Amino acid sequence: MCAWCARLSEARGVIARVALPVPRTPPLDYEVPAGMQLERGDRVRVSLRGRPLWGVVIELAPDAAFTGALQPVEQAGGPVVSPDMLEVIAEISEGFWIPLGLCLGRILPRPARRRARRLALAVPKAEVLPIIEELERRAPVQARVLQQLAQGPLDDGELKRRTGARAEATRRLIEKGLVKADPLPFSFRLTEARRALRLTQEQSHALNALEGASPGERFLLVGPSGSGKTEVYLRLMKEVRTRGHGALLLEPEISLLPQVWARAGGALGDPPGVYFGGLAPGERWRVWKDVLDGRLHTVVGTRSAVYLPFPDLGLMVMDEEGEGLYKQDAMVPYYHTRDVAEIRAARQGAVLVMGSATPSVESYYRAERGELRLLRVTQRVAGAPPHVRVVPEGDRVLTPDLVEAVRRHLDDGGQVMLWVNRLGYFTGASCRDCRTFLPCRACGSSLVFHFAERCFRCHVCGVSADRPTCPGCGGSRFRLYGIGTERVEHEAQRHFPRARIARLDSETADHGGEVLAALAEGTLDVLVGSQMIGKGIDFPRISLVGAVNVDTLLGSPDFRAGERAFRLLSGAIGRAGRGDRPGEVIVQSDQAEHYSIRRAVHGDFEGFYREELVYRQALGYPPFVRLGRFTVDGAGAERMAHTIARALGDQGIEVLGPARLPARRGVPRWQVMVRGDESLEARVKEALPRPASSVRWDPRV
Ligand code: ADP
Ligand code: ZN
Repeated sequence: MCAWCARLSEARGVIARVALPVPRTPPLDYEVPAGMQLERGDRVRVSLRGRPLWGVVIELAPDAAFTGALQPVEQAGGPVVSPDMLEVIAEISEGFWIPLGLCLGRILPRPARRRARRLALAVPKAEVLPIIEELERRAPVQARVLQQLAQGPLDDGELKRRTGARAEATRRLIEKGLVKADPLPFSFRLTEARRALRLTQEQSHALNALEGASPGERFLLVGPSGSGKTEVYLRLMKEVRTRGHGALLLEPEISLLPQVWARAGGALGDPPGVYFGGLAPGERWRVWKDVLDGRLHTVVGTRSAVYLPFPDLGLMVMDEEGEGLYKQDAMVPYYHTRDVAEIRAARQGAVLVMGSATPSVESYYRAERGELRLLRVTQRVAGAPPHVRVVPEGDRVLTPDLVEAVRRHLDDGGQVMLWVNRLGYFTGASCRDCRTFLPCRACGSSLVFHFAERCFRCHVCGVSADRPTCPGCGGSRFRLYGIGTERVEHEAQRHFPRARIARLDSETADHGGEVLAALAEGTLDVLVGSQMIGKGIDFPRISLVGAVNVDTLLGSPDFRAGERAFRLLSGAIGRAGRGDRPGEVIVQSDQAEHYSIRRAVHGDFEGFYREELVYRQALGYPPFVRLGRFTVDGAGAERMAHTIARALGDQGIEVLGPARLPARRGVPRWQVMVRGDESLEARVKEALPRPASSVRWDPRV
């Protein structure tokens, strides 16, 4: 405790300002009882309108001006966040116009005493179904547990709540080898450190520059996939830890964590912590607390790990920097991981390294202008660049060229990856009688047919329908079309009945660790998957990549669609030939001349960037301007959107819209975009008072 705080809490009449996780409630003042020691960043229990609540102390002040009676702080719960991080989070709360208490409530994990176990099926779902039937009479509780776990892994406590099962039932199932318990959501072995591995000249040059960085310095490390960037991050982490500082390695998606965790463990000598949103509550709290208390110095995680309260942070690495998943867009608190990382770098003097084969256009632009220090590795260390060719897809799922290539690579003992840009079996449907396209009833997006569940599902809003009817004629017979992961898996099985084939996409991700482990061990021949398998995964035995249904990447109206297409396709291509076998890639596309596809096929980021920049400048998009966006939902959304647009327009701010967005679960949504220069955010905040909580503001689209 600092001397000032100590003096304060000894004095009588100290006031704690407490941020509470309640909408529309600013931080409130409470009286600190004599004898209670508090610091900023402590959890405290207080009452709000007679209701007990846990909040966070954001300020301590002597009682000077206030004369009325304040309610007391009822209980002190110890530190949950460092004063440093409190300020970082306050900056995010200001920037996005989200009350600080709500931000803290979402970002800070809740204390949980027990180390939760995560329970999952230890055998494939198909094998469990007959066992469940058999157990139903003899051991109904065990049957219920299996039934529940067949839907996906669960924490101990949650499983107990849903099934009423005592520890005994779970223990029996674990003994039988049907269920496994694991603190991590994936099973992966640490890889051996490759001591013999000597850095290339380019890698050494980059590492030297990074090791000599000044506090707060920001880098962009650009190099094709397989050029040894991860190797550089890991060595840098080790160096930073040796110097006694914390080091954080961020990946855009959970599927990338198992491998990087294993590699980091090998490189560092002991396993780093793992942190991401879906971690069991007990585990989340333990990692958070270990970091806060200075017991844990290295962590790999996804975007929410950017908030981990390292007391002495030395390094943040953001791998695959351009990846859209780094933006939290789905719920409060909205943020871009990059913004949080930059705030932390500036406040805490940590070095920030953003790395990618396909950095965002904005970051590369900043690097060219010297705002980020640009480092390059250009040579692939993992094998030669693959041989890439484009073949027209037409209305086929797997083209003869691809089928022939798969056969050839399997015969040679290689592994094959089939990358598909869509989930599900069929990705669209239209009425056989009147040809009307079948939309989601809640939001109007196209419905995707899932074969395993025999149902249609909307991937935008999550609504599903067993037996939809045609909105045009009421008919119930549909023509199904489009190619999703499930359909490609099915086709691959048909062509290669003896091959060992597995699918990995967001629907099967719970078994992701097992699938990737099988790939590493060579007990899998063909991996079919969605976008998540095209990123960052390093499996040297994959010699062939087939990219299927690529053209659906190009249809989106978002101004970043071209960038996204280039990035995803480049990522998929980069998975081939990372070992000793020469790599081959077949891209199925009818738009080979589209610049995103053409440049990705040639592995030409610079060329892509130049073309993209011309288009961004001509149409007035970032990085040449700043775009901000208001999103409003609820019954009054339309009126509110117009009110906002008028208020901003009156202040001379360029307004685009208002425009109607697809409804979410039946709730109408509207947006108002604004365009301007660097001063946009300040001008918007001047023009508008803090808006109602149904309005969301994103200062940087
Ligand atoms: P990137 O992150 O750029 O895709 P990685 O660091 O994953 O590249 O390296 C790709 C593969 O090459 C990995 O298997 C890694 O162990 C190996 N590798 C990295 N650097 C070297 C090196 N200097 N010599 C030999 N192999 C290397
Ligand atoms: Zn929908």
